[in-house]
Amino acid sequence: MPRIVRFSGPTGPRYGIVEGTEVAVIEPHPFGPHGPTGERVPLEGLQLLAPVIPSKIVCVGRNYADHASELGNEVPAEPLLFTKPATGVIGPGQAIQYPRDLTDEVHHEAELAVVIGAILSRVTPTEARRGIYGFTAANDVTARDLQNRDGQWTRAKGFDTFCPLGPAIATDIDPHDVGVRCLVNGEVRQDGSTRDLVFDVPTLVSYISQVMTLLPTDVVLTGTPAGVGPVEPGDVVRVEIDGIGALENPVVERSRPVDPAAN
Ligand code: ZN
Repeated sequence: MPRIVRFSGPTGPRYGIVEGTEVAVIEPHPFGPHGPTGERVPLEGLQLLAPVIPSKIVCVGRNYADHASELGNEVPAEPLLFTKPATGVIGPGQAIQYPRDLTDEVHHEAELAVVIGAILSRVTPTEARRGIYGFTAANDVTARDLQNRDGQWTRAKGFDTFCPLGPAIATDIDPHDVGVRCLVNGEVRQDGSTRDLVFDVPTLVSYISQVMTLLPTDVVLTGTPAGVGPVEPGDVVRVEIDGIGALENPVVERSRPVDPAAN
């Protein structure tokens, strides 16, 4: 099962294909013509980065019935779209910065993330399926109090560091039959399956493409199963998706501006 990683190299981010305990380096990146460099590096010890820096992140709310009902919401008749800014993306191991000055209710949301691999404009679900590059894990970190107070979700979902992605892009999993879990400090908080998606992945991608053109590297978050809840500074949040791996991020108090060069 091919898995693509992006990692920190001596002269900048690099991409590679995981092969057992090693990574076969490719250049320049997988979203266009590329090829192997012949270099192989041990996977262990690599500083993995977010596997993609999207031009935009399009998200779907209330796409699992059990999660919609836990927050007292109905399942929508059509996909409920919102976006997160690309500046929110962090990679495996990077800290989620808790903006205590503005919120005191930050929640985890474990989600399957779709990585787009083609230019998709007003496509059918069948065309959408062909335009998907692969899948990674995401944490749609949300300031729940601000989400409820604001009535729309830009601020609650848009903080820097509120979109952990990784650790790898899996290119051939079945997106409708994978377990999606979230653990906080090792305790299972969410344990769902994409079998329970209200709107399936090709339907979502097609639906979004009726509104905005999706580009290679764009990311679609497919919603979260039941069990969302608070995280606090000092916690470690782990999103696990079968066939992709585990995305682990510590939570810290927000202290200083994020260094965009770290991505
Ligand atoms: Zn979400």
